[in-house]
Amino acid sequence: ALRHLWHHEPLLLATLAGVGLGVVLGVALSFADLPSRAPGVLELLALPGDLLMRTLKMLVLPLITASVMAGVCALRQSTADMGKVARYTLLYYLGTTLGAVALGIVLVSAIRPGRGSPFDALDSGVGCHAANAAKTFALSLSLKVASHASATSGRSPAEALLGVVRSAFPDNIFAAAASMNVLGIITVSLLFGAALSVMGPEAAPMVQLIGIFNDAIGKIVGWVIWTSPVGIASLILTSICRACNLTSTLVALGLFIVTVLLGLGLWAGLALPALFWATTRRNPAAVYRGFSQAMATAFGTDSSNATLPITMRSAVELGCDPRIVQFFLPLGTTVNMNGTALYEAITVIFIAQAHGVALGFAGTLIVALTATLAAVGAAGIPSAGLVTMLMVLQAVELEQFAGDIAIILAVDWFLDRCRTVVNVLGDAFGTVIIDHHSRKWIPPAGGDDTG
Ligand code: ASP
Repeated sequence: ALRHLWHHEPLLLATLAGVGLGVVLGVALSFADLPSRAPGVLELLALPGDLLMRTLKMLVLPLITASVMAGVCALRQSTADMGKVARYTLLYYLGTTLGAVALGIVLVSAIRPGRGSPFDALDSGVGCHAANAAKTFALSLSLKVASHASATSGRSPAEALLGVVRSAFPDNIFAAAASMNVLGIITVSLLFGAALSVMGPEAAPMVQLIGIFNDAIGKIVGWVIWTSPVGIASLILTSICRACNLTSTLVALGLFIVTVLLGLGLWAGLALPALFWATTRRNPAAVYRGFSQAMATAFGTDSSNATLPITMRSAVELGCDPRIVQFFLPLGTTVNMNGTALYEAITVIFIAQAHGVALGFAGTLIVALTATLAAVGAAGIPSAGLVTMLMVLQAVELEQFAGDIAIILAVDWFLDRCRTVVNVLGDAFGTVIIDHHSRKWIPPAGGDDTG
């Protein structure tokens, strides 16, 4: 089987090997106490991962800009029923996000991971020094993210919603690009693409130029993908070495971790494929296989934004209409986060349970709605979901327990990776579903279909 895989999917095999190598080396080097004995060596081992992350992030902005513009032009040119695509896209985003939240609420209520006050146990326990380190880190993180990337941290839900809407309409294109305001960049690109397609033949040279630009970015993405196994191994290795590896945190938060992983697993392994089968009658295995590279990259980079170039490429290679991919994935990556939504709901209710607060039906409903909003507002970057969670805590008046987030941060490096994979998978299934149905609504592209 290994030889078969090596012949037909060498990249997949290399990626899996990268993940495995990263885990094994990470654990081994932690046990050898490398991080404190030879920090320089760790720094060196972190370099390939750093470079992969930087290159992917560098590609995201031009990729989103060019592909959204090209997508709009191509869809308009084909006199498509864009409205239908947009409606079903929004329906999918909202439906799956709420579904994931509901699953999270059911699981956390059934398992009750917060019983036995895990946070109190930790506060009086041994592992406080790591928790303190985490606290400092959390503070710097929330400052960093709140200052530009996230529109929702630590504000009331209404303000947060306004913040999301406002960030979708940037007042300065360059500021939006520099601060990675993806939603804003998408709006600008949509407008520009719409203008080009309204202009008709006059704009043809520009449309062609954008297409060429798009293809060039695609080429670079192709090169980066072949280096990604090494980068992924390095990213996983360093995050294991740097984690505050605290047995007591793990024991205290064990049930919480199990609940989150169970929720993510059920959503990604049962709910999404079931929805896929129900709407397309196709075998979901093809989707997992087609997006395996994207899933591995999501796990390695901890960021669905950084994974976007690879997700888009996988979708096109799987045979999706590039026009749909260009339209659906940039937006989905920022807005549609199934894993984050599920995680926020579980975590907030977990915190309430740990402090003996009964949320009741109304409180739970508020958690469901604000967790959805917080997932929409979270940027596709590492740990963004933890920061927007402040808003959910505030909505149910639990903000005095915001410090608990710092303790959860000790395990978040791992849970974040898992939920990022689910975020990417949600977009992946959505793309294939919308693509499947769009064939009824949109005439096939004539000739040049790369947009
Ligand atoms: N890291 C996640 C992502 O990029 C966002 C989160 O923190 O939930 O999709």
